[in-house]
Amino acid sequence: MELLTIGAFARAAGLSPKALRLYASLGLLAPVRVDPDSGYRFYDPAQLERARLVAWLRRFGMPLARIQVVCDLWERSQCVAADEIAAYWAEVETDLANRRRLATFLVDQLSRRETDMSETSRLRIRYAVATDKGQLRDRNADSAYAGPRLLAVADGVGAGPAGERASAAVVESLKPLDSGVPSGDLLNALEHAVRRANDTLRDVAASDPALGEVGTTLTALLWSDSSLGLVHVGDSRAYLLRDQEVFQITHDHTYVRSLVDAGRITAEEAESHPQRALLLRALDGRSEPQPDLSLWDSQVGDRHLLCSDGLSAVVSEAAIRDAMILLSEPDQVVRRLIDLAFQAGAPDNVSCVVADVVES
Ligand code: MG
Repeated sequence: MELLTIGAFARAAGLSPKALRLYASLGLLAPVRVDPDSGYRFYDPAQLERARLVAWLRRFGMPLARIQVVCDLWERSQCVAADEIAAYWAEVETDLANRRRLATFLVDQLSRRETDMSETSRLRIRYAVATDKGQLRDRNADSAYAGPRLLAVADGVGAGPAGERASAAVVESLKPLDSGVPSGDLLNALEHAVRRANDTLRDVAASDPALGEVGTTLTALLWSDSSLGLVHVGDSRAYLLRDQEVFQITHDHTYVRSLVDAGRITAEEAESHPQRALLLRALDGRSEPQPDLSLWDSQVGDRHLLCSDGLSAVVSEAAIRDAMILLSEPDQVVRRLIDLAFQAGAPDNVSCVVADVVES
């Protein structure tokens, strides 16, 4: 078969000769022959398919290192390569959504500064909190907190007292945020607080080696004027009720959730999966925390629920939704949800925090 010069190959593939030289240096697409005297590069026409795939992936901005992964998979199986491209695109969309929220927030902040400053401080929250060890556990490893600006739920993991020590320490180290932070600083403050909490966990584990490994989930909301910061690690949850609709605003960091996201099992199958409690992320005092952080615009009439999996694992979304919509006071909702968990056997510790956003 006649080999193609780099120019002819570049034209046929829709890539520039300069790009081809770069891809050759990275081992992504190497010429089959380089003339030892002239240095001219030659490509096999059979390489065109791989080159066109590279060109296509570059067109929507995939980084070269990821293209290498896709191309290697594609050599073995087109379906597996397709899965990898879909996974990459899901990451792009998540990242884009987060960046959009950050940009929108900044635009809002800057616009407000020039319009009505008083408008931003007319909100406050009314809240209720409850935590219970449930019917089967000897200890309560959950910790829950609600204050004028901060709500938090943490579900400790570990044997014996380790879980409750962990969740209590993390919630305790977040409490200083309740005295208030500027809205432009919400995410930084939450991120720092989580690092501080993780350091505290390390100290707890070090101070009492008998505890063994400690760890905890953490889901917290922090208000500043009408801005709301959310920090989340693990499988405790945050829900928002707005305009009669309930949205889960956290994403479970669990093995089964990752299987559902990858399309390997259905949400129904996840509910009875033997490894449904397996966490992919938690605060453990050993590894670097990887919290999800996001900003929300808070509105009068919003209702928030934070809960541990002792509620969400045994009480249906529909029942949670009904309680959030139908009951007027936060403490009624909290009591109703704990009752529902008990009606379902309360096999785990259960915690609920409910807050209504009202005019101050
Ligand atoms: Mg739990």
